Amino acid sequence: MIVAEQKSIAEIKEIVAPYKKILLLGCGTCVKTCFAGGEDEVAVMASALRLAVKMEGRDIEIEELTVERQCEDEFIQESAEAIARNESVLSLACGAGVQALARRFKTTPVLPGVNTTFMGVLEKPGLFTEECAGCGDCKLALFGGVCPFTRCAKKLVNGPCGGSRKGKCEVNPDTDCAWHLIIERLTALGQMNNLKVYLPPKNWCASLSSGPRKLIREDHEI
Ligand code: SF4
Ligand code: SF4
Repeated sequence: MIVAEQKSIAEIKEIVAPYKKILLLGCGTCVKTCFAGGEDEVAVMASALRLAVKMEGRDIEIEELTVERQCEDEFIQESAEAIARNESVLSLACGAGVQALARRFKTTPVLPGVNTTFMGVLEKPGLFTEECAGCGDCKLALFGGVCPFTRCAKKLVNGPCGGSRKGKCEVNPDTDCAWHLIIERLTALGQMNNLKVYLPPKNWCASLSSGPRKLIREDHEI
């Protein structure tokens, strides 16, 4: 999932300062799962924002709505009437959702209410960890399903740096050493031979380093 966290009320107050009527729009998919922008978070943020603005002696009208996904036109459409009733939209979706709205509603300011952080998993209640950097050329099959490009601080692909202590990374001892995990996993799978093949430096052309990417599925084009 895409993991995001809410901006502070102080920052949001500044972002919405020019507007008196805003639509606070949640997204019911990734940001709901990471407790940043689902229906419940919309309700809590709306109350907090109303209170914060009122304490400054200002008035604001906040309409609340959550759609299933803000990154798909089919679901965005459900917010069209509410958007038309308001001066601006404060979106609690990831950056893709904010931009999809801005693309669709060209004369309405669309403002971000969360900081989009990474692609990751819920490792345990309250802990989300980054697992994939979206490199565009997945090599997880070689590494037993543990990504060194994302999870090794030095992005090493031919073995550990040697600095790991007790399974933790020398760069950040709070983090598991990716290579410790890779070796554990390949050993359990009986695939340690994978590491006998030298991997040349990664070609990052398929990644964001070459600019924004597109995925074309001709079989789905109309
Ligand atoms: S190899 Fe690339 S696509 Fe695969 S998990 Fe790592 S960053 Fe993501
Ligand atoms: S300790 Fe492990 S994760 Fe950290 S930089 Fe070295 S090999 Fe990478």
